[in-house]
Amino acid sequence: MSSMVDKPAEPDSRPGTVGGVVGAPVVARADSLAERAVRGPGAESVTMTAPFTGLRTAVLPQASDRLARAAFARARRAQCSWAATSVAQRQRILLRLHELVLSRQKEGLDLVQVEAGKARLDAFDEISATALVADYYGRHSARLLAPRRAPGALPLLTRATHLRQPRGVVGIISPWNYPLALTAMDVLPALAAGNTVVQKPDNQTALSALWLHELAGEAGLPRDAWQIVLGRGSVIGDAIVEESDYVCFTGSTPTGKRLASAIAGRLTGYSLELGGKNPMIVLPDADVAKAAAGAVTACFSSAGQLCVSVERIYVHDSIRDRFLAEFANRTNALTMGSALDYRAGMGSLTTPEQLRAVSDHVADARSHGATVVAGGNARPDIGPLFFEPTILTDVPEEAAVFANETFGPVTSVYGYSDVEEAIEKANATAFGLNASVWSRDTRRAREIATRLKAGTVNVNEGYAATFGTVGVPMGGMKDSGVGRRNGAEGLLKYTESQSIAIQRGLRLRPPRTVHPAMWTAALTAGLRLLRRLPGR
Ligand code: NAP
Repeated sequence: MSSMVDKPAEPDSRPGTVGGVVGAPVVARADSLAERAVRGPGAESVTMTAPFTGLRTAVLPQASDRLARAAFARARRAQCSWAATSVAQRQRILLRLHELVLSRQKEGLDLVQVEAGKARLDAFDEISATALVADYYGRHSARLLAPRRAPGALPLLTRATHLRQPRGVVGIISPWNYPLALTAMDVLPALAAGNTVVQKPDNQTALSALWLHELAGEAGLPRDAWQIVLGRGSVIGDAIVEESDYVCFTGSTPTGKRLASAIAGRLTGYSLELGGKNPMIVLPDADVAKAAAGAVTACFSSAGQLCVSVERIYVHDSIRDRFLAEFANRTNALTMGSALDYRAGMGSLTTPEQLRAVSDHVADARSHGATVVAGGNARPDIGPLFFEPTILTDVPEEAAVFANETFGPVTSVYGYSDVEEAIEKANATAFGLNASVWSRDTRRAREIATRLKAGTVNVNEGYAATFGTVGVPMGGMKDSGVGRRNGAEGLLKYTESQSIAIQRGLRLRPPRTVHPAMWTAALTAGLRLLRRLPGR
């Protein structure tokens, strides 16, 4: 692993961004962005710091329970007029937002880097995911939400239509790791479906969500249609659970389970996007160099702080040594750095808690006899929260890293002799978020993919193929979640089904002049006939 700290700055690297006050322009924008969050007299505030330096980035207002509930009341008032706008109008706003995100990307990239400590290329993944989501729902919402005619109980006499009504006010709770992409994936379809939104982003990366909020306003979104409340879940979580007509939560599995039991008491709908321990299977016929390069991206993008990132790799014994050598070489060549430019291959961890969790997993693995093939160390010489991309082998079941999510740049490589064994090991986890299969035989890889218990499976890719395909749903099986984001499901979950049937002429009960026995005999014949009617 090499650091970028001593290299000369390239032209797009601004003064003070390497080892100095990272992101001074971002800090200058912080106050105006923080103004967009729900606030009130006497509200508390928190001071946030940049992972790259530990220096101050923003002072953020913290909502009280009362302020959060007031935001829901405003959102409820705003919902009727927002739902009354045509879907075409909502789509136009999303498409304008798409263009604004792309044209203003420089500021968004700076914000994500400064708040989350990401490499710029990883921050760009957020820009592109946001644009893809705005584009998808900007083009497809009307089609997906359109009323559907259905064959009625009595042909020609019963006219049935299935409608999608907005749920009302959606509460969205977001983590710190993908502040733009996850905000877009969860907030935009909720708005497209005619709901208003109260979102609680994580304080650590709130400015990025507020930046998207600002652009949405410029694109034409009424201010109360999407409100951002900042504050700890322990303070405003109850308000979100109790005031929402639907809750969309993204975060850890323990928090998700706690919220689900609180929501259950209200019989409100919810979706949970939770943690993972995502496997990658490398088949004996895989292109070893491509698989190794793919593993670097799959394991170390956003310093592994990505729910779909790969933390377990199963490589066929016949190619294990070659794969490991290639993977270690490429990992060791990954540069780390904190400049706001594209030079670094990997950024920093985001919080001191993350650094502690990652360091603990690696220390615990070592103490259980694991071998560190690459990395394994914190790098305070680059920045306070940097940790090397790390490859482990010989990890025993007793090590914490074996089955628990690290959520950092640490991956374990295991051998296997038979593909059935690899599938079994890949599925032997409480989680079921993402998986990856590598083979030259894509038919075979696809067949294996169908046997993996994961909400998304990527063939010859780590996660990006499904992550970037907004038209298909993404989410977790087992302890990785409930419900899906993206695709039709990611929009329709924010709607209530409503069926309206209009009955004409004949009623569905016998007229007084007809004996019920004759009526039911006629209906029985009719039902047999219906069974054979084409097009039903
Ligand atoms: P977390 O601790 O569960 O927090 C997630 C969010 O929930 C934060 O905004 C947090 O804010 C809030 N929160 C915590 N307790 C709450 C409560 N009682 N009521 C309301 N909100 C509450 O998770 P994290 O550590 O930030 O995020 C990392 C985890 O998220 C990993 O497990 C990762 O795999 C998962 N994740 C999953 C996906 C996915 O799509 N499946 C995507 C990204 C991340 P406060 O901490 O300020 O209270």
